[in-house]
Order: sequence, then C-alpha cells, then structure tokens
Amino acid sequence: MPRGRTFRTKGIVLHKTKLGEQDIILTFLADDGSQHQAVAKGARKPGGRLAARCDLFCEVDFLLAQGRSLNVVAEASLITSHQVLRTNLEHMSCASCVVEIAQHSSFEDARDSFLFPLLSRVLLAIEQAHTTEQLDLIITAYVFKILAHQGWRAQLDACVVCGDSDVSRFSAAMGGVVCESCASHIEGAELITQTEIKWLDALLHMTFDQILAVQIDKQTVLYLISLAHIWAVTHLDCRLRAFEYYLSV
Ligand SMILES: [Zn+2]
Repeated sequence: MPRGRTFRTKGIVLHKTKLGEQDIILTFLADDGSQHQAVAKGARKPGGRLAARCDLFCEVDFLLAQGRSLNVVAEASLITSHQVLRTNLEHMSCASCVVEIAQHSSFEDARDSFLFPLLSRVLLAIEQAHTTEQLDLIITAYVFKILAHQGWRAQLDACVVCGDSDVSRFSAAMGGVVCESCASHIEGAELITQTEIKWLDALLHMTFDQILAVQIDKQTVLYLISLAHIWAVTHLDCRLRAFEYYLSV
C-alpha cells in the first residue's frame, strides 16, 4: 500500500509498548485474525484523546494511516471497552492470560476468521464470570479450543501411543492421554482420572454460555487449568508469564 493511504479495521488490543514520552505501540488482533502493530500518538498523555480507546482488551474500530515503518492510528472508536477487565484484579489477570495466548497464536499476514470472534466471546465471558472456577474454566477452554483449531487437538479417547482405551495418564508432549504401560516410557506423563478426561472433552465442545453455567469442584478445575498451562507452553513453545502470574495468585 502506498504511504499516506488509510484503511479501516476492527481490532482487540493485546499488548501495549511505550514509545518515547507520549506514544504507544499497540499490538492488536484484527478482525481477519491477523496480528497488527500500530503507533497510537499521544496515547500516554493523561486524558489524551486516544488513551481510553486504545487500552488493553478494548475492541476498537481503527482508521490506520500507512507510516514509514509502522502504521499510525488516525482514528479510534470504541466498540466495547471491556471495562470490568481493567477494574477487577482477578478478571484483569485472567484477561491478560488470554490476550497473551492470543498474541502467541496469531501472526502478521496470517488470516484466520476463527480467532477474532473467539477472543471477543472469551473476553465477554470473563466479564460475565463471577467465580474463580469460572475464570479458570474459561482459560482452560480457550487454550484447548484455540490449539485444537491450530492443529493441536488433544487425543482423549485412546492412548496416543498404542491405541489402548484403558488410559490413566496425560502427556502434553505426546498429544493426549496414554495408558499406564506406555506412560512408563514417557517423561512427565501426569495421572488423570476419567472424570477429568470427560471434562477436557466437554470443554472442547461447550459454548461459553454453557461453560458459565457448569458446576464443578475446585480441585478438578485446578487440575484442568494446570494441564491447559502445560498444553499451551508445550505447543506454543514459549514461556507464558501472564499465565504463570495468574496461576500463582
Ligand atoms: Zn499405550
């Protein structure tokens, strides 16, 4: 595109980096599923025109101008601010964890129409959640859904190595459940119960409305979210600091 041209796109703000005294580089997920960066000039000025519209988790209608190296935000109008996600610490930590995963699973120039609506629904679900268990389940479902979409669907019905249906362990590195015999040759294969396997399978298929309505005990949720963390770190092949922080508090 020639310099000086403008174009519109919707985006969800995933990350902000300070640039100089007053500007911010925004990383956002565009509605076509690709990841973009753009400079929001003056967005660090207190009370500045752009500050509130370019905050983390905001869903924004951007008008972008082609810059020398990075595009520049010419206009930004809020579609959804997701205010709750910035005012409640637990919700903020949960949403930070989700946008961190979104950042690691989207790429410049790689369109994927699944990613934006999913992230938008997940951020709304976090706003709608009232309990820690609901927040944990939302993250767990998001991790397993997005990675399944990108080719890392956990195999849950039979041992990934030998196909035996009598399974008792879970190995992120191997891609799902394994039997006791195969597990003895696999490092870090965690014990898993049939109930926990059923929950993982259910979360892959449930809508977020259904997830917000489930009753589940704390212990099971804690185990499921720990598996989601291992699954994400293994298949995104990176450290997830916001996820680590969420699990630590
Ligand atoms: Zn086996």
